[in-house]
This record gives sequence, C-alpha cells and structure tokens, in this order.
Amino acid sequence: METYADILTSITPAPGTTRTLLDPATGEAVGDAPVHTVEDLERAVAAATAAQPAWATLGHEARSAALVRAADAVERSAEALAVLLSREQGKPLNGPNARFEVGACAAWLRATAATELAPETVVDDGETHAEIHYRPIGVVGAIGPWNWPMMISVWQLAPALRMGNAVVLKPSEYTPLSVLALVNVINQELPEGILSVICGGREVGARLAEHPAIGKIMFTGSTATGKAIIRSSADTVKRLTLELGGNDAGIVLPDADPAAIAEDLFWGAFINTGQTCAALKRLYVHEDIYDAVCEELTKVAAAMPMGVGLDEANVLGPLQNKAQFDIVSRLVQAAKDSGARVLMGGDPVADQPGYFYPTTLIADIENDNPLVTEEQFGPALPIIRYNSVEEAVEMANALDVGLGASVWSSDPAQARAVAARIQAGTVWINKHGAVDPRIPFGGAKQSGYGLEFGAEGLKALGVPQVINS
Ligand code: NAD
Repeated sequence: METYADILTSITPAPGTTRTLLDPATGEAVGDAPVHTVEDLERAVAAATAAQPAWATLGHEARSAALVRAADAVERSAEALAVLLSREQGKPLNGPNARFEVGACAAWLRATAATELAPETVVDDGETHAEIHYRPIGVVGAIGPWNWPMMISVWQLAPALRMGNAVVLKPSEYTPLSVLALVNVINQELPEGILSVICGGREVGARLAEHPAIGKIMFTGSTATGKAIIRSSADTVKRLTLELGGNDAGIVLPDADPAAIAEDLFWGAFINTGQTCAALKRLYVHEDIYDAVCEELTKVAAAMPMGVGLDEANVLGPLQNKAQFDIVSRLVQAAKDSGARVLMGGDPVADQPGYFYPTTLIADIENDNPLVTEEQFGPALPIIRYNSVEEAVEMANALDVGLGASVWSSDPAQARAVAARIQAGTVWINKHGAVDPRIPFGGAKQSGYGLEFGAEGLKALGVPQVINS
C-alpha cells in the first residue's frame, strides 16, 4: 500500500452505488467512493460491537503498540496518502498542508500511544481509599469535516482505540477517499471490525448519532450540525465531544513589532487557505501600528503562491467546494459593499477551473460587518482598527463562539493579562492555531465542549469509574 496506485486500488469500491469525487483545483475525477446506507452502518456497528471486548481485554500496552505500528504504516505510505489528500481536498503538497497533515497523523498516533493515564487516587486517609479508573465506553462514532479530513479522523480514532473502544467513522461526503485510504493503512495493524468507515451523508451521520449501540460521538464540524447531533443523541444520553465552528480573534497590542509578527499572523489566518477551525478569522490591531501591520501582512501575503496542489511551488490552494467558495464570495462582497478598503484580493477570476479565491485582506472594516461576525472559513481576513485594549477585548468577546484567540505583544506579562480576559478555549501568545498532541484543545461557548489531546483527551474516551473501598 505504499504507492499511489496501491492506495487507489485499496479504496476502489465494491460494485454498488458510488459517487465520483472531483479535484477542487482542476475538476478532474480523483476516484469513486461508496455511498453507504443505513443498513451498511448497522453491519459496521454490529461488527464493532462484536470485536470490541477482545480489543479492550488486550490492555493499554498492546493497544499502544498497535497504534505505534499504525504510525509506522502511515509513514511508509506517507507520500501516496499526501497525493490523494491533495487531489481530493485541494490543499497543496507543500507548506503546512498535505504532507504536513499526513505527518501529523503519524505524530498523533505515536503521541496518543505514549500518553500515560494512571488511575487517580482521590482519597486515601486510612479509612477510605477511592480511585478513579477510566473504562472503555464500547463503540464510539466519529463524524468529521472536510478541511483536515485525515488529521481530524486520527484525533478522534487514536484516543478512542487507545482506551479500548471500537470506532465507526463517518467522514465528510466531500472527502471520503482520504479517510478511507488512511483507515485502510491503519487497519493493516488492527484486528478486524475494530475500525471501519461508513461513507454517506447527513442521514447516515444522524443515525450514528442516535444509534443505541454507540456510546459516544466524537464530532468535529459546524456549530449547526453540532446542535443537531446533541438533539439526535438525547434519547440514548450519549457522551459527546463537540469541536465546532470558530471565529477566532487576534489582538495585536501597540507594542508588537509588525515586521516580526507578520509571517506568523499570515499563517495563523491562512493555514489550509483559511479552511481551519482555529484559524485567525478577525484581526484587531491598535491604531498606532495599524498601517504598519497592514503593510507588512500584505507583503507576506503577496509572496505566497496559490494554485494546484500537486505543483510544489504552491502553498495555498482552492476552496474545497462550491458552497464554501460562495460563502467567502458573499462575505467579501458584503465587506466591499460597506466601503471597507481592499488591501489585496477580493476579486476571483471568473470562468477558471477550480474554486480558487484569491488571498484577500480587508482593512478599515466595521466590527459588525458579516465578514467579521460570520465564519468565513476561507482566504479572506478582516483587519479591524481599535484604540483601547478594553475595546479590543470587548469586540473579541462579542460573538457566541470561542474556539481559539491570540494576543500579539513584545511584553509577555501584558499579553497574558489580556489573554486571561478572552473567552476562548485556547489563547495563543505571539502565534495562532498551534495544536500539540500533549496539550488539551477544546472550545468555549458555542464552539463546543469536551477536550481532545493529552491525558484529558484520553479521559474523554473512557467512562470514569470510582472504586471506593
Ligand atoms: P458540517 O457540520 O457541515 O459537517 C461535518 C460532518 O457532519 C459531515 O461528516 C456531515 O456529513 C455530518 N453531518 C451533517 N449533518 C449531520 C447530522 N444531522 N447528524 C450527524 N452528522 C451530520 O461541517 P463541515 O462543513 O464539514 O466543516 C466545517 C466546519 O467545521 C467549520 O465550522 C469549522 O470551524 C468546523 N471545524 C471545527 C473544528 C474544531 O476542532 N473545533 C475542526 C475542524 C472544523
């Protein structure tokens, strides 16, 4: 399974209903995915239910060893997986994109295998000894988005498997091939039935979320779908981890050095061509350095090539689908209509193949403009001027989402003081969107609940059980 041809063969669907996935950069066919039905889902859940007890009995050490072998397998197939991901998702091979994503899959598998989770003693006073253990949940359903399809699948499946659960994955209907290929590689190292992929749309996702044999749903996607999943899961009181939409603010304090921070600001906002949950989506800059930040950011942005993913020169790609292209177009148009100043971009080339939206920076925009208040999820960054830190914090906190945020300053103590006042699951200082398998990650407000990564992430895939003696 190490070549692209092997990978394509491994995901060739059995005869039946299939759907052809098109490259969002060129419109060419990438491959066919099965269109599974609710009956297929029932079979996968039954197989997972049958296989899970033996997997749980193996113990942490053996399961961790399997995850490490799975990481080795991903590394052996890394280039082929990256090519498929680039073709189906659109992200370039180069830059923090397809090769980076496949590398992260292996890194997360290894880190999850290495994370310790010992029983916790909560009382030991001579009379009472009470400990918390984390037992397997059973079968976990994982539902994912199209922006980082491989990496987010690993974020869901690795801790679930490590904790002794079986997993049924439902990838986004926009990127099923990437997830199928990745799971085929990982499955070389797992017992049959423990990890399976069901490709289908909303109805399959909704059935997974209400299925009585599923003990937990790991969901990453939009806030609207997250709310639907909460409702679907209610009758079976399913455990949920919800990583939902974000509209992350970045606040640049007046003492920041515009030239020094420009490249990190750029990648904070434009990683994966802006199609990232915890990307910087609203930039607040103090009036003293506003013009300098706009100028430095424009310089950096102008030097970042966008184009077809398999061309090594490119570090930015197309939007993954037409619906997302239309959202970005609508929001940038709203900004232009309001009289905001276009520093660069804002004008997609008509009639070209692919959903390319040019890198766009918009200055002098009001804080209530839709490009600021709605999640653009694409390569268009609004830059808002502020004159007091008080005002910037208030604007950053004004929305009902709070995934990440960032503060940019030459004074770490001052940056931390501002960070403490921001309503977000993570606040980065002088960087944005840096995730790390050792550091818990999750949202505040309507960006979701539950934590992923590290020991906290493992606990979320177990049922806490107290032994009180
Ligand atoms: P989406 O909500 O449209 O779809 C996500 C998944 O949910 C897909 O697999 C879809 O088929 C499935 N689904 C749709 N309706 C369903 C239902 N009723 N029941 C069960 N499943 C259903 O999201 P998307 O457009 O694929 O992803 C983009 C969004 O995801 C953005 O808002 C982004 O911010 C968010 N996101 C969040 C994180 C995070 O970690 N917080 C990470 C990546 C993306």
